[in-house]
Amino acid sequence: MRKIVIAGNWKMYKTQKESSEFLQGFMPQLEKTPANREVVLCVPFTDLSVMSTSLHGSRIQLGAQNVHWEDNGAYTGEISGGMLTELGIRYVIIGHSERRQYFGETDETVNQRLKAAQRHGLIPILCVGETKQQRDKGETESIISNQLAKDLVEVDEQNLVIAYEPIWAIGTGDTCESTEANRVIGLIRSQLKVADVPIQYGGSVKSNNIDEIMAQPEIDGALVGGASLEADSFGRIVNYH
Ligand code: PGA
Repeated sequence: MRKIVIAGNWKMYKTQKESSEFLQGFMPQLEKTPANREVVLCVPFTDLSVMSTSLHGSRIQLGAQNVHWEDNGAYTGEISGGMLTELGIRYVIIGHSERRQYFGETDETVNQRLKAAQRHGLIPILCVGETKQQRDKGETESIISNQLAKDLVEVDEQNLVIAYEPIWAIGTGDTCESTEANRVIGLIRSQLKVADVPIQYGGSVKSNNIDEIMAQPEIDGALVGGASLEADSFGRIVNYH
């Protein structure tokens, strides 16, 4: 049985005050959530400390949205794995397309960050996916297989989550057909050494399409952006049928 991991990616949204308001609305909804679903919130760095205190003893796991590859040093603006684990952080998103696109993240730096995260006992959520142009040119499979080959060098697949996020589906409302997401995720799995790596789908996951997405046999969870910002919609997503 593969683990099911439903993670919210808050991106650059929510102050500490807003994160506490979210939790008030969200926590009660978890009473109905089956115990075998891992619920993760990947929040801005500034929210981690207060949330780690409020979530102590709850079933929600906290995640960051990036981590540096060195343990410390002159890296202005960066956060290390040790800084995260001291706060009780469990997960970290690595290689999100927004970081690859706007912040110069490459497969090489993604690989370094993955190894650093694992060295500190964090579970990375590695994001891979193709652009619309690459998909239209029939390059989806080769792009993803190339990302995986480079990103996963010397990475321990036993402690890893992968998110298939077609870039054209992120924040656009244009979800990938669930059967197509299932097919690509099957291809990703065929390239891994460890068979039970949880592989999520991400890209315009909403409360009205989560049931269909999770009904697909290869899909082990979701990485949810916009719809994780609101307690009721994320509650509905973690309680999918
Ligand atoms: P979205 O974002 O759900 O708003 O499309 C997903 C993501 O970027 O992880």
